[in-house]
Amino acid sequence: VVCVSQEFDFFYFVQQWPGAYCDTKQSCCYPKTGKPTADFGIHGLWPNYKDGSYPSNCDPDSVFDKSQLSEIMSSLQKNWPSLSCPSSNGFRFWSHEWEKHGTCSESELDQIEYFEAALKLKEKVNLLEILKNAEIEPDDGFYSLDSIEEAITKAVGHAPGIECNKDSAGHSQLYQVYLCVDTSGSEIIECPVLPKRRCASDVQFAKF
Ligand code: 5GP
Ligand code: 5GP
Ligand code: 5GP
Repeated sequence: VVCVSQEFDFFYFVQQWPGAYCDTKQSCCYPKTGKPTADFGIHGLWPNYKDGSYPSNCDPDSVFDKSQLSEIMSSLQKNWPSLSCPSSNGFRFWSHEWEKHGTCSESELDQIEYFEAALKLKEKVNLLEILKNAEIEPDDGFYSLDSIEEAITKAVGHAPGIECNKDSAGHSQLYQVYLCVDTSGSEIIECPVLPKRRCASDVQFAKF
C-alpha cells in the first residue's frame, strides 16, 4: 500500500524586516548586489502541522537547482534578499530554504512553483504599505504590539504572528511577520496555530 499521507497542514509565510536583522549585536552583510530597498523581505514559506510542529529536510534527493530560477532571479534578489554574513548573492539562503522547507511541500509545489508562490504572496500582502497606512513607520519609534497586529489583521483579514528580536541596545523590535497560507501556497488563511514568539508590549520599528 502506498501511503499518501497529508504531508503538512498549512504554510507559514514569513517576512523579515531588514532593519531588525541588521541592527542586532550580530549585525548583517548586504548582498553583493547592494543594500536592499527598505522593505520587508521574504524569509521563507514553511510547511507546518496544526499542532505547531513541522517537518524539515524531507527529500535529500531534491537538491536546489538554481538554473530553474533564472527567470525570477531579479525578483528574488529584490524580494528575498539574504542579509547574513558573509555577503552573498542569495543562493545560499534560497538553497537552504528549499532544502529545509520546500522539500516538505513537494507534493504541492515543485521548486519553481515554490519560489513563485512566495513571490506572489509578497506581492499580495504589502506589509510596509499596510503599516504606513496605520501610521506605523520604520522611524526608530516605538509602537504598541497591539496596533501592529490590528493594522495587519484589518488589512489581511487574518491575524498575523509577530516575532521580535533585540537591537544592540536591548530594545524589543519588530523582526518577522508570520501569515498562514493554505497548502496550495496561494490563499492566506486563519492561522491554525500561531507561532509562540515573544515581543514587549511596545516594540521599536527600526530604520533601515
Ligand atoms: P529560530 O530558532 O530562529 O526560531 O528558528 C530557526 C529556524 O527554524 C527557522 O529559520 C526556521 O527554519 C525554523 N522554524 C522555527 N520556527 C518554525 C515554525 O514554527 N515552523 C516552521 N516550519 N519552521 C520553523
Ligand atoms: P521553540 O523554542 O520555539 O520551541 O523552538 C526552538 C527551536 O527548536 C526552533 O527555532 C527550531 O529551530 C526548533 N524546533 C522547534 N520545533 C521544532 C519542530 O517541530 N521540528 C524541528 N525540526 N525543529 C523544531
Ligand atoms: P531558517 O533555518 O531559520 O529558515 O533560516 C535561517 C538560515 O538562513 C540561517 O542559517 C541563516 O544564516 C540563513 N540566512 C541567510 N540569509 C538570511 C537572512 O537574510 N535572514 C535570515 N533570517 N536568515 C538568513
